[in-house]
Amino acid sequence: MFSYSQNDFYCEHVALADLAHQVGTPAYVYSATAILDNYRAYATAFGDLPHTVCYAVKANSSLGVLSLLAKAGAGFDIVSGGELFRVLRAGGDPGKVVFSGVGKTRDEVDYALRSGIHSFNCESEAELALIDALAARLGAKVGFSIRVNPDVDAVTHPYISTGLSQHKFGIAIADAEAVYQRSRQYRSLAAEGVSCHIGSQILDPSPLIEALDKVLALAARLREQGHPIRHLDLGGGLGVAYHEGEKAPDIAAYVECLRSRVRESGLAVMVEPGRSIVGPAGVLLTRVLYRKRNGAKEFIVVDAAMNDLIRPSLYRAHHEIVPLRRTPLPPVKADVVGPVCETGDFLARDREMPNAMPGDYLAVRTAGAYGFVLSSNYNSRPRAPEVLVEGDTWRVIREREVYEDLIRGESL
Ligand SMILES: *Cc1c(COP(=O)(O)O)cnc(C)c1O
Repeated sequence: MFSYSQNDFYCEHVALADLAHQVGTPAYVYSATAILDNYRAYATAFGDLPHTVCYAVKANSSLGVLSLLAKAGAGFDIVSGGELFRVLRAGGDPGKVVFSGVGKTRDEVDYALRSGIHSFNCESEAELALIDALAARLGAKVGFSIRVNPDVDAVTHPYISTGLSQHKFGIAIADAEAVYQRSRQYRSLAAEGVSCHIGSQILDPSPLIEALDKVLALAARLREQGHPIRHLDLGGGLGVAYHEGEKAPDIAAYVECLRSRVRESGLAVMVEPGRSIVGPAGVLLTRVLYRKRNGAKEFIVVDAAMNDLIRPSLYRAHHEIVPLRRTPLPPVKADVVGPVCETGDFLARDREMPNAMPGDYLAVRTAGAYGFVLSSNYNSRPRAPEVLVEGDTWRVIREREVYEDLIRGESL
């Protein structure tokens, strides 16, 4: 959905240089068509196998994005009460919401129960006890899955790998049967599923399949023991191509692989993709402020910074950076840096870059996931706006913050 026509970079049918000129920079821009295509790649590939694609809200939680997915029929994977609030505001169906996370608070569990969510992915026995007690008070019965830790190496950045026994997530798969057994004491809970999520930005799906096989075997044993297991929740994690020419796993092929393995069991399948739905569907637009050279090093100083997109600083992540208008100038090897007062504030390092001059616009690609959601007001920088493109039209789905927003709720 992002490509050049002549020398101008487009999102769908919108020339991004014109858009940048109108909304200013930095600004996030998302392609609605790309988001829906990615969602439908999951949903369609499941075919007649009972399934729910629960979009992982934490990847991009803007109301405009959630509303698009809610209208397309998506479910949602939430990790906080705030995310549930957003999903409900965006018109999401609480009956298709799963609540994940290792540290759900009493208030959050209560809010989720009162909202009538589909189920909880539980990560400890104390959490089961809490949900049971609160559900009993409401006279409700609610489904749960234990999030098992299958001890599979997702082969990704250590900060986003979650499925090894050393990680804080889930309950060791070897202990799971005993936990399900003890959960029979909870009158307000029903053991309806088994869940796992082994990490993010996984480029080789074989660890995901390895985890599936372990979870599938566990589900079969649990059913033999009389637990009413109806679904598997396989989490998210499918990676996207951040490098030019990199090959991301094909969504449909991955789902087909899940489908063929699960079909026999009669279980329904849930998945919780975040990055693979919104990541490639977004760019961060920025404008060159200055060019400078310190010794041998060339710098392109832009108006977007680590507070807008922290992935390069936090994970040393790579994002392609392209000009919104191609220039005939020869490329230059440079660091692309923002205005924040940290040496770690960079968008690219020692990169062969288009020779962009002050005033020129650039697009930081594949920024739709874990971009805006991880942005902050560090250095008292107002957060960027977000724009949703559909065909040849676009609309601002979040306004740029103004200085007054920076001090809301503060007092002298
Ligand atoms: C983060 C997360 C996801 C989404 O992961 P992606 O890599 O963005 O697809 C899904 N489920 C859980 C429990 C998560 O924590």
